[in-house]
Amino acid sequence: MTDDQELGITESKEHSTGEWYAEVVQKAGLANYGPEGMSGFIVTRPRGYALWEAVQNELDGRFKATGVQNAYFPMLIPESYLEREKDVVEGFDPEVAWVTHGGYEELEERLAVRPTSESIIAPYLSQWIRSYRDLPMRVNQWCSVIRWEATETKPFFRTKEFLWQEGHTAHASEDDAWSETTTRLDQYEEVYEDVLAIPVLRGKKPEHDKFPGADTTTTVEALMPDGKSVQGATSHYLGQSFAEAFDITYTAEDEEERVAHTTSWGLSWRALGALIMTHSDDQGLVLPPTVAPEQVVIVPIWQEETKEDVLDYAEGIATDLREADVRVELDDRDERNPGFKFNEWELKGVPLRIEIGPNEVEEETATLVHRPDGESVNEDRAGIVDTVHDHLDTVYAKLYAAAEENLEGGVREASDRAEILGTIGQHGGYVKAPWCGDEDCEGEIKDQIAAEIVLVPFEGSESDTESIHDGETCAICGDEAVETAYFAKSY
Ligand code: AMP
Repeated sequence: MTDDQELGITESKEHSTGEWYAEVVQKAGLANYGPEGMSGFIVTRPRGYALWEAVQNELDGRFKATGVQNAYFPMLIPESYLEREKDVVEGFDPEVAWVTHGGYEELEERLAVRPTSESIIAPYLSQWIRSYRDLPMRVNQWCSVIRWEATETKPFFRTKEFLWQEGHTAHASEDDAWSETTTRLDQYEEVYEDVLAIPVLRGKKPEHDKFPGADTTTTVEALMPDGKSVQGATSHYLGQSFAEAFDITYTAEDEEERVAHTTSWGLSWRALGALIMTHSDDQGLVLPPTVAPEQVVIVPIWQEETKEDVLDYAEGIATDLREADVRVELDDRDERNPGFKFNEWELKGVPLRIEIGPNEVEEETATLVHRPDGESVNEDRAGIVDTVHDHLDTVYAKLYAAAEENLEGGVREASDRAEILGTIGQHGGYVKAPWCGDEDCEGEIKDQIAAEIVLVPFEGSESDTESIHDGETCAICGDEAVETAYFAKSY
């Protein structure tokens, strides 16, 4: 096998999506599978971790600009803490990993490896909050959690240990807590749309699929090119259930003791799964310039007699770009030919390639090639920094437009059970239908084609056209409909 074959992607995104995804993740150097006996765990390589850091930086900046502070809590939670909020125990019990021994000694109380940290953060919020002056209180932690997932795992999308952030806040009123919930959902939406070039739908989860103990779970959902939905991030209004269970109370202005309202919200490295799946192709990874570790790769093309001139010229461009804070790599390796380099950087997802040969040197130009579609443009050397910025913007716009087209074409309507099943079976994507709110009706669809209700639009939102009208009936059982449900298969 030649190097080129070893490097290249052999699976097809369209025909063998799962295998293709696994190949891209590994060959682009993002992650490896964990050790034998630890299925569902992955090793994140520097290139994969750099993508997570990019997402982390974007989110962290937004959180800090809106009153959130970072903190860190133990990864182990005493069982008795977990049991204080009964929905949390029931909801997470099947997925909890337990520590039973410390060294040779059996522990008196077993300790849960956090599947989420409400149960260990809430008791401290309770200690820290005394009066209304302490509110709102907002903490966030960047950490990993463990959920022993029963469903099939997939790097980044669903792993047993995953990196995420979890924000936890307490507020004086329901209005304040609800506004916090939507602020965080807005920020998730912003990161998906403005950083990852993935448009999302916003809404809430049906009652039966809420976060354990939550009053309302809100979500952003992204549609993958294979027609499956990804729950991109969730923001929960927890009502007063956690505050009651953990005694988060405060003295109000009128000296009365009141129970706080709390929220929690999380985005995990599943966002990277969505990123890889949305934009990449049969040549490998495709990254938007916003998160790409290298935004530009310069590939010089020389013969022995032109080498010095070409390299000097290429270095000049690299220096200009670097000084303007463009992340640029000059690939001046002697031992590889330009074709090999093109393939390798394409596989790694670099958004923009600049080719410099003797012609470019002579004409004082540079040839810019867009990763997503191979469009190639010859531009003047003068003003190269602005030109590169424009091209990076164009690459972003191309990626976003393709994802938007997928989403816009991926929402269909159905008015009865057969139509829901047929439409999802044939096209994938979202099928929206009037629904009575009963879990059993969703169950009928789930049993037949493994699709579920991934989203219910917010009432009074921009999608108010979806409000249910008097007399409308559930597409599945024919009883009175109360909301519009989006059915989809999901990751
Ligand atoms: P939750 O606390 O269940 O609302 O989860 C918060 C977010 O983490 C979800 O919206 C998912 O995007 C993500 N997530 C949940 N489970 C996993 C998993 N096993 N692997 C990766 N990401 C996950």
